[in-house]
Order: sequence, then C-alpha cells, then structure tokens
Amino acid sequence: MKFDLHTHHFRCGHADGNIRDYIEAAIAADLQVIGISDHTPYFGSEEEHPFPSISMAKSDFDGYVQEVLQLKREYEGKIKVLLGIESDFFPEHANVYQQAMSAYPFDYIIGSIHHVRGVSIFNKNRWKKLTPSEQVADKEEYFNLIRQSAQSGMFQIIAHMDAMKGNYPLFSEIKADEAIEETLKVIAESGLAIEINTSGKTKLCGGWYPSNEILEVAHHYGVDVTFGSDAHKPSRVGDEFEEVAKVLKEIGFKEWVYYEQKQKVAVPL
Ligand SMILES: [Zn+2]
Ligand SMILES: [Zn+2]
Repeated sequence: MKFDLHTHHFRCGHADGNIRDYIEAAIAADLQVIGISDHTPYFGSEEEHPFPSISMAKSDFDGYVQEVLQLKREYEGKIKVLLGIESDFFPEHANVYQQAMSAYPFDYIIGSIHHVRGVSIFNKNRWKKLTPSEQVADKEEYFNLIRQSAQSGMFQIIAHMDAMKGNYPLFSEIKADEAIEETLKVIAESGLAIEINTSGKTKLCGGWYPSNEILEVAHHYGVDVTFGSDAHKPSRVGDEFEEVAKVLKEIGFKEWVYYEQKQKVAVPL
C-alpha cells in the first residue's frame, strides 16, 4: 500500500504541472493514496500576493480547495485523493492561519517552519555571519519553533524536520541534541506524525529529511511517521517510497500513517 502526502503544483509559483498531473503520476506509480498539499497563501500579510514565487495568492485558496474536492470525487474508485495543505507556521500569525483553514474540510495539515528569525531556512548566507555559539542558538530556535508548531493543535504532520540542512549540510554537525530530543518528545505527546521527506536530494544536502539519527530518536519516543516526496514536479510523486520503507523497518518502525478527515490511518510497513 503506497501513499504520498506531500505534493505541490503550479499555484505556488515554483512547481510544475496542475493537480491532475500529480494524481495521474500517482496512479502511474501504483499509489493508492495521493495527498495534495500546496503551500498556504501568506495569510499573515496585508498584501494579497506578497511572494508570487513562494505561494499562491489569498484569492487562489478557495479555488485550490474546490479543485481538489472535485478531483477527489472524480477519481473515486481509482485512487484516494486527499485534501491537504502545507501551512507555514508563524507564531504571531497562528490565529489568522487557523481561522482561514478552519473553513475547509482538510484531511490533514502539514505544519512547516520555513523561516527562523525572519530568514529563510534555506538561505545559506545566514550561517556565515554567525559565531559557533550563535549557530547553536539558531539551530535551537529552529527546533523551538517546530515544538511550538506541534503544540499549536493546528497540524497532523510536522514537515521536513531538519530541512535547515538543505543548503547547509554542516547544519547536521551543529550540536543541539537536547533540542532535537525535546522536540521529538513534544511531537510524540502531541500525537503528531513526522514525515520522511525525500526532497533533500533536490538540495545541497542530498538524502532525506530528517536524518536516520533523528529517525532513531523518533522511534525511541514512539513518534508516528508518514511519507512525503514534496514533489514540485509530477515525476517525483512517490519518489523513494520503497527505500524509505526499508530503512524505517531497519530502524524498528512497524507501521506508518496517513490522515483522512484528520483521523490517523495506520499502514503496515
Ligand atoms: Zn515549495
Ligand atoms: Zn516545506
């Protein structure tokens, strides 16, 4: 049983294809469940469409949901299409995001930290200006934000947990073991899943988010796991699903999960 909960499409301004292309790619890759999860608009901004190459306009949001719901009906019996979204988490704007999303029947919401202290997690220049102890502080702040997102009650899934290594592979060597462990404890207590996100290969770090070391700690604390390719082109749907399943089994996981109407569905590994 194969599934993929993390996919994008043209609306975000940096992905190829339309939603139907991702569903068709999922069928071609023998998936039984495909989650559509484009980036949320910047609900916390005054502007209608502040970053056209990062996410959809606020006015695109309703059409996005309606299109997924329509395709969900159309593909019934062929593949299960889930209505998801990848939501940014800004503590100061959490309420406005929650309100905007509460009007729609999402199967699940993926919570993502894409900014730390106002700078993109993928901006490698951040690290050049920092002393070693400031680097530790920024890494701890990243995991602090992930903990806050887990405790917000807004999400079912925590996105790409160590994606800050994306364009700065040395991130993994900055010591912040306690912050990571504490974060996984909080995620387990909050009943959320972390995704194994195979899009690391599209960045300098290569590989997956999170690292196997983090997955081992996640397993120790009983954190649920799920799968997301984070495909920004249809050909990446389901990318490395089997390889991830194999490694999870080696670590000791027995199952992974997806969400339907925000209810957890366990899938044996
Ligand atoms: Zn994206
Ligand atoms: Zn993301």
